Amino acid sequence: MSDKTRFLLDETEMPTAWYNVQADLPVPIAPSLDADGNPMGPEQLAVLFPMECIMQEVSQERYIDIPGAVLDVFKTYRPSPVIRAKQLERVLGLPAGVKIFYKYEGVSPAGSHKPNTAIPQAYYNKLEGITKISTETGAGQWGSALSIAGALFGIDVEVFMVKVSYEQKPYRRALMETYGASVHASPTNLTAAGRHVLSMDPDSTGSLGIAISEAVEVAATHDDTHYSLGSVLNHVCLHQTIIGLEAVKQMELAEEEPDVVIGCVGGGSNFAGIAFPYYHRRLNGRSKARLVAVEPKACPSLTAGEFRYDFGDEAKLTPQMEMYTLGHDFVPAGIHAGGLRYHGESPLVSALVRSGDVEAVAVHQVASFEAAVQFARAEGILPAPESSHAIRVAIDEALAAKEAGEDKTVLFNLSGHGHFDLSAYEAFNAGKLQDYDFAAGATLCEPE
Ligand SMILES: *Cc1c(COP(=O)(O)O)cnc(C)c1O
Repeated sequence: MSDKTRFLLDETEMPTAWYNVQADLPVPIAPSLDADGNPMGPEQLAVLFPMECIMQEVSQERYIDIPGAVLDVFKTYRPSPVIRAKQLERVLGLPAGVKIFYKYEGVSPAGSHKPNTAIPQAYYNKLEGITKISTETGAGQWGSALSIAGALFGIDVEVFMVKVSYEQKPYRRALMETYGASVHASPTNLTAAGRHVLSMDPDSTGSLGIAISEAVEVAATHDDTHYSLGSVLNHVCLHQTIIGLEAVKQMELAEEEPDVVIGCVGGGSNFAGIAFPYYHRRLNGRSKARLVAVEPKACPSLTAGEFRYDFGDEAKLTPQMEMYTLGHDFVPAGIHAGGLRYHGESPLVSALVRSGDVEAVAVHQVASFEAAVQFARAEGILPAPESSHAIRVAIDEALAAKEAGEDKTVLFNLSGHGHFDLSAYEAFNAGKLQDYDFAAGATLCEPE
C-alpha cells in the first residue's frame, strides 16, 4: 500500500481511447424507438446529433479512440487527481484497514465532469460544419460546460435553463453568457413546446423534460443547429469513461483495489464514467468492486421508477428509450441538487441495475448536505450538492466497515465543486433544507 495522498498521472499517461460498455453487457440494450414505436435509424437522429455521436450510440466496439484535438483540450485539465481522504478518515476515526479515496472532477474549467463530453461533442459538431448547438440545463453545470466547449471550437450555444434554477443561480447564467452563450429561462415563448406549457401553467417553474423539448425543437427546425445532451445517452456515458480509466491506473499507483465504487446519478453519466471501467475489470477477474449508484429520494428513478420505454422529455420529441423512469411528465420537487432532477436514467446504467451488476440506493438531501459539510471541513473542498449524495454513501460504507471490524477500500467520484451552489449551502446552514420523499407518497418531511 502506498502512503501517499495524491495519485497523479502525467498527461502522457492519459487514456487515448474510451471504454464502451456495450461490448460487455450481459443483455444488449433495446433499440431507441420513434414516437410511433418504430426503431430509429441514424438518419432520423442526424437532425439532432453529429454522425460520429450517432455511431458511438450504437457501437459494439470495446474501445473507441479519442480524437487528438479532443485530447489536446483535455490536457488543459486532465488527468484529474485521485486523492486519499486522509483527514476525513481521521475525523471518522477509521481504523487503518478502512480507506476512502476520491476522484476529483471539480478541476475542470466548468467545475464538474461535464466538459468530458461537452468537448468531444462540440468537436464532432464542428467537423460537420454545424454553427450552433441548442441545449437545456438544470443546475447550469451542463450549460456552462457546453458554453466553454462552444467557445473553444467556435460554435454558438443557446441554452434553455430550467426556470427555477435560472432564478436560483444567476451566476451560472453570467458564466455561460461570459463564454458567449445565450440563455433563456424555460419554459419560454420561443418554442411551441414552451408556449404549450405556459398556456397550461403560466407560473411553471420548468423541468429538465420541458427544457429538453425546447432545445430539441430549436435544433429540429434549424439546419445549421444541432442539439446536445449532457447525460443519459450512450455516447455521453462513453465519453465519461475517461474518469474510471484514469482512476483504475491511479488506484494501481496507490496499490489498492476498491471494494466499492460509488457515484451519484442524475442521468447516470458520471457514475458510468467511474463505474464502467471497474465493471470491465470485474469481468476480467481483476476487481471484485461493488458498484453503487446513489440518487436523491426526491427523484428516485432507479429505486422507485419503472423499467420501460419512455421519452426523454415532456413533449415527447426525443426518441423513446428503455430505462428506469418516473414518467416523462414527472416534475420533481425543487431540491438543491439540481443536476439530479431528471425523470429517467441512462439506458446503460439501467441495464446494469436490472441485471444486478450495479446496486442503486436513494438518500435524503439533508443527510447528503451533512456529509458534504463534514467532507468540506475535513478535506477543504466544497462539494457540489449532487456529489454530496455519493459522499453520504461513501462515509456510510466506511463507517459500516469500521463497525463490522472489516477492511474496506472505498472509491467515490467527486463529480464537481459547489462554488455555484452557495445558496443551497446557505439554506442548509440556516436549517431551511427539507427532505422530500417521492416513494413515501411525496410527503414533505422536516429536517432531522
Ligand atoms: C450534472 C451533474 C451530475 C449529474 O449528472 P450525471 O449525468 O448523472 O453525472 C452530478 N454531479 C455534478 C457535479 C453535475 O454537474
